Amino acid sequence: MKVCLIGQNLTNLILSLVFVEKKLNVDLYINNKNRNIKTNRTIAISKDNFDYIKSLVKTHLPHWKTKEIKIYIETKKKKESINFKNKNRETFNLLNYSKLKDILYKKIKKNKSINIIKQNPFQSNLVNKIKKYDLVINSEINNIISKKYFTNRIFKKYESCAYTFVINHKKINNTNAIQIFTKNGPLAFLPISNTKTSIVFSYEGKEINNNDFLKLFKKYNSFYKINKVTDIEKFNLGFMMLRNYTHDNILAFGDAIHRIHPLAGQGFNMTIRDIKILAGIIDSRISLGLPIDSSVGNDFQMSTKHLNYLYGKAIDGIYEFFKVDNDLDNLISKPLLSILNKNHMFKKFSNIISDKGLYL
Ligand SMILES: Cc1cc2nc3c(=O)[nH]c(=O)nc-3n(C[C@H](O)[C@H](O)[C@H](O)COP(=O)(O)OP(=O)(O)OC[C@H]3O[C@@H](n4cnc5c(N)ncnc54)[C@H](O)[C@@H]3O)c2cc1C
Repeated sequence: MKVCLIGQNLTNLILSLVFVEKKLNVDLYINNKNRNIKTNRTIAISKDNFDYIKSLVKTHLPHWKTKEIKIYIETKKKKESINFKNKNRETFNLLNYSKLKDILYKKIKKNKSINIIKQNPFQSNLVNKIKKYDLVINSEINNIISKKYFTNRIFKKYESCAYTFVINHKKINNTNAIQIFTKNGPLAFLPISNTKTSIVFSYEGKEINNNDFLKLFKKYNSFYKINKVTDIEKFNLGFMMLRNYTHDNILAFGDAIHRIHPLAGQGFNMTIRDIKILAGIIDSRISLGLPIDSSVGNDFQMSTKHLNYLYGKAIDGIYEFFKVDNDLDNLISKPLLSILNKNHMFKKFSNIISDKGLYL
């Protein structure tokens, strides 16, 4: 049985290791123009998901753990309105996105069961080439397969961009992730060492130059004494849910099936949970002596699509709630978060959902 993965992205690098563990041969199609995309971006991965990646990679993954998540609102900047912590486990593991990708790619290059094929992702011959496989997984948003077969989707453009950068600051005990729901959009401080913190500001105001943007950011920063700021990177934000995950022998996957607002740091966590479900489906098929073919895609869709939609919509709901609430000067969130902050069941449940999604 031959499986093919299309796209040189985090999703496929992890999927390659999953398939190899199940003794399947993998052809991994990567872009022939070997773009080495470097970024300062940080990715927050929940404990269960991080443990899962570690178990596949089997080498050290440089990371930084956060013990607590503190949520602030615009009109109450002095003290957090709600906090989340877990006695015995970290709230998030923060990893450098490029470093993680490099480690995974190096590991895959060494593996003889993974055949790396360079391919122009827009060349029409890709459509014919993949017909020979029992199962094809396409995790690339921008290629001929996505454009041809996977266009039926629910889409919403957020009128905002995520600005990401890293600040170097005076040494502190840096173990709290912070999120402020500002009038200009959610602003996250993600610690990556005692002297460095990664910033994701999903800014939704009018066009702004980098200097004015940094002034605005500094207005909200009362936590760090900043020495230096790295280059700013910018990402357009949207909400997308694919209506149908499969076409013939192809299963769309990862960001190609769901894209959500980064305010909860859950986009890739959703994908890792999907990978675990897919791995479980493959295990049960192998144990029953069934083939690994297009029916795997149908089983996967049946198990995940409704839950992924609900989860994505819940995050979109949080985004919309704070948008309205900020227009009302936090009239709703002030009393609501104060009540929720005292509710242990709510906090416990939120911690579980952030780690396990809706697969309870
Ligand atoms: C600002 C922001 C912050 C986020 N923070 C978090 C977070 O904290 N936690 C979380 O779980 N999710 C987060 N996400 C979501 C997360 O980044 C995505 O879900 C995840 O990166 C998708 O991975 P991927 O495998 O689909 O593609 P990626 O590996 O991210 O690549 C994206 C696309 O770029 C192309 N590409 C990348 N590298 C190469 C290469 N070397 N050569 C050729 N093409 C390449 C591929 O076509 C690929 O499809 C965030 C998203 C944004 C925009």
